[in-house]
Amino acid sequence: MTTPAERAAIISIGDELTVGQSLDTNSRWLSGRLTSLGLSVVEHATVPDDLERIVATMRRLAESCHTLIVTGGLGPTADDLTREALSEVLGEPLVEDENSLAAIRRWFSISDRAMPERNRVQALRPTSGVHLPNPNGTAPGIRVVVGGATVHCLPGPPSEMHPMFEASVAPLIIPPGGRTIRTRVIQTAGLGESDVAQRLGPLMDRDRKPLVGTTASRGVVSVRIRDESADPADIADARISDTADEVRRAVGEWIFAEDDAPLPEIVLNRLRAAGERLVVVESCTGGMLGQAITAVPGSSDAFLGGWITYSNALKHALVGVPLRALEEHGAVSAEVALAMASGGLDRSGAHHALAITGVAGPGGGTHAKPVGTVWIARASRDGDPDVRRFRMRGERDTIRDWSVTSALLILDQRLRHAPSTRLLRQSELR
Ligand code: AMP
Ligand code: MG
Repeated sequence: MTTPAERAAIISIGDELTVGQSLDTNSRWLSGRLTSLGLSVVEHATVPDDLERIVATMRRLAESCHTLIVTGGLGPTADDLTREALSEVLGEPLVEDENSLAAIRRWFSISDRAMPERNRVQALRPTSGVHLPNPNGTAPGIRVVVGGATVHCLPGPPSEMHPMFEASVAPLIIPPGGRTIRTRVIQTAGLGESDVAQRLGPLMDRDRKPLVGTTASRGVVSVRIRDESADPADIADARISDTADEVRRAVGEWIFAEDDAPLPEIVLNRLRAAGERLVVVESCTGGMLGQAITAVPGSSDAFLGGWITYSNALKHALVGVPLRALEEHGAVSAEVALAMASGGLDRSGAHHALAITGVAGPGGGTHAKPVGTVWIARASRDGDPDVRRFRMRGERDTIRDWSVTSALLILDQRLRHAPSTRLLRQSELR
């Protein structure tokens, strides 16, 4: 149970968030940071650029939480209302902060510009508030105390907000009572979430310590172990290790990673460790596999590149898929997936090639090859290729996402020398 002193909440402000135009990634990031700092995040509130709603939400959450993080609404325009909201909540006027005004002028002068008059409002703060420096933009943050809550207001852009949180907020957060939260993540593939839960059995009891929970995303089921206590670190660590052992006993064969790293990063690390390189040949995913891999910094060590062969003509012209295979079996077939992979391998000098060809929908399905039919092949320089058919469910985006994950898992299985009989969920060997 958490006492009020441990509670934190996050308020995200902006019309772009409430109308569904952009995603509130700040709350996710902040929740992760606050949790690892030992606080218990009890609510994410998202409100539009509306003074009344912002004020009401700040008041409500300041009553029940010890730490509030607010992002957004600190820009220079009329819809940036965080300053006014603080003024109203505190019943204090806004005053101009000389140092902040100088910093804002400096920000513009570095790029040889005069400060537009409009930016002057960003130097305002409630009288009892303090400004938090923003090295990457014009909007300073603002910290105030509202009743029993400390309220930290940060600008919306993640590139400004993240460093400001680390520099000006994180150092002030002291987990009450010395309680710390430790987590360990174990990732599995090949079982559905309910199968994993079934195997974990009483490990998932809600009153168990440490707590064990699962989350599923595109065929990966992560088992999260969470220990919250005021115990010495070595005792808490031992408790987590014991629970991890039990998780291994329950689902060991399906575990592919014992950390929280994203799958592309895990695969790249294994390729790097083996001194091997990968190419991709994509049809229905249109480059999404290459995108997922290159999103990991430093991927060039192990990733050479690939081909987007969406049409039959390019499958043939670029990676040499035989026209006869396309005619006889169709583009979505084991033969073509394998030919795409081996063609990519031959033309690149890579150690492994992954190929994806499928019907992502919503149109294009047939009785024999319904929407969601995806063939994924791996070819490797030292032989033993792998090709599997998936019958995926869901919308186009889901099918394409799931295809990317499945391709990476197929390669991962090979790189781990795991028996390929441990089939991925929804997949069948040829
Ligand atoms: P601001 O001017 O402080 O309201 O923030 C402006 C920009 O920050 C927005 O246009 C978004 O691009 C970004 N932003 C604001 N809030 C969030 C959020 N919760 N998550 C991710 N980006 C955000
Ligand atoms: Mg805004």
